[in-house]
Amino acid sequence: MKVYLNYINGRWTRSNSKKTFTNIDPATEKPLGKFQASNKHDVEHAVKAAEKSLPIWKETPAPERAEYLFKITRILKRHKERLARIETKEMGKVLKETKGDVQEAIDIFEFMAGEGRRLYGITTPSELKNKFNATVRIPLGIVGLITPWNFPMAIPSWKLAPALICGNTIIFKPSSDTPQSAYELIKIIEKAKVPKGIVNMITGSGREVGAPIIKHPKVNAISFTGSRDTGKFITRNAGLKKVGLELGGKNPTIIMDDADLKLALNGVIWGAFGTTGQRCTATSRVIIHKKVRKKFESLLIKETRKLKLGSGLKRKTDVGPLINFGALEKVSKYVNLGEKEGGKVLCGAKEASKRGFFYEPTIFTKVKPHMTIAQEEIFGPVLAIIEAKDLREAIKIANQVDYGLSSSIYTNNVSNALKAIEKLETGIVYVNSPTIGAEVHLPFGGTKDTGNGTREGGTIEEFSEIKTIYVDYSGSLQKAQGIE
Ligand code: NAP
Repeated sequence: MKVYLNYINGRWTRSNSKKTFTNIDPATEKPLGKFQASNKHDVEHAVKAAEKSLPIWKETPAPERAEYLFKITRILKRHKERLARIETKEMGKVLKETKGDVQEAIDIFEFMAGEGRRLYGITTPSELKNKFNATVRIPLGIVGLITPWNFPMAIPSWKLAPALICGNTIIFKPSSDTPQSAYELIKIIEKAKVPKGIVNMITGSGREVGAPIIKHPKVNAISFTGSRDTGKFITRNAGLKKVGLELGGKNPTIIMDDADLKLALNGVIWGAFGTTGQRCTATSRVIIHKKVRKKFESLLIKETRKLKLGSGLKRKTDVGPLINFGALEKVSKYVNLGEKEGGKVLCGAKEASKRGFFYEPTIFTKVKPHMTIAQEEIFGPVLAIIEAKDLREAIKIANQVDYGLSSSIYTNNVSNALKAIEKLETGIVYVNSPTIGAEVHLPFGGTKDTGNGTREGGTIEEFSEIKTIYVDYSGSLQKAQGIE
């Protein structure tokens, strides 16, 4: 079986641990390759490389840095099909979705390459005569990027592209469930001839690799996407580093009695069962007006039963496997809990195959807002339907969770739509479309327990900081605040 290496200081390197772990295809449970089970010594090695290359990269003009990003974009485009197949094999989602994932990586590298000629600061008048005031953006230094498995090309790219264009050097730790996608991405960065030491990738577990990155005194910032628990661990251990956290969601779709039910149906199917429900923005709650609940449920059951489970490589498959055995157990646990707490199963609620981590798309009705399946992130193909008597109650229920990532409303009433936009406590609100479907040039992120207020996507805030400049050309000592 092929053994894959770490990428440190421009070289493919074995881990100091001399240990590897095996990457598994979740549809077949077959091994795909062995990856380095790295440790803190590898982190140390990578930090040294990132430290050495930082002055060179920092001083490279941003439009010149952008040329590397354009090159990466072009190579990604050429390899889109191949990369999507690799992704589908190692994390299970269907090919049309992994193509979308690679496209997102292409889009963000292209967008951020454009930033190389912007990286805007501000100029502003001074209180005093003969004085010039402005701000410029500066890099943070060495940044640690820690990513999950559900968008194994897109999420690392959302971080790598802005981190690079802003002039930072990088230690990247991908999820142990998708190390091959990360490997392929780094191969492309190498092909684009990004100078050595600027991007370093180390595979291995959160505990052995992630934690030493988070705690390392020379790492200036952490950008993390993953679960709330790990996010909390980072907050406790990162000291004074700048930390960006993109965490979980419990995303509602509100369906009003004036909605186009066919449109809502298609949106809910895609939002709840696309990526097998394993998106941070997945629709996990439908909050529906009591007048249309029954009708919508019968439409939804019919459509859900048509969904085909199977290998994501097959053209007819709609829903791939869950990521691993742990995820299968977690989904089963929540479904049992849902039944125990009084939810009524409309369809699904069982494992779907002896081989691979397949679980049938599952719908619960008669769910109450306080129930565990209406509160906790399940991260699987499980949808809870909650009835509401009017918009006010629907919005109240939507907001009654700890998370605040994405929400949507289906309505043909403009007042309902605008009220929902104002009152829904999420970082992203959709009208007449599902809770999933972000575009890379808009800020992405959530409120409440979904993070710490950072946004990714079309913004460089997370990966740069601001230097404020005062230039006094009066030739005399001028004091601010009118001091004589
Ligand atoms: P996770 O378990 O938190 O893992 C995410 C990454 O953190 C992995 O690389 C993991 O390494 C690493 N990690 C785990 N424990 C760590 C520790 N103590 N110190 C440092 N690193 C550590 O999350 P996941 O299961 O991969 O992803 C699913 C979660 O991500 C869901 O909650 C989902 O909502 C969220 N998510 C959020 C967004 C967003 O933008 N808001 C997008 C996608 C996903 P190993 O797994 O290799 O050990």
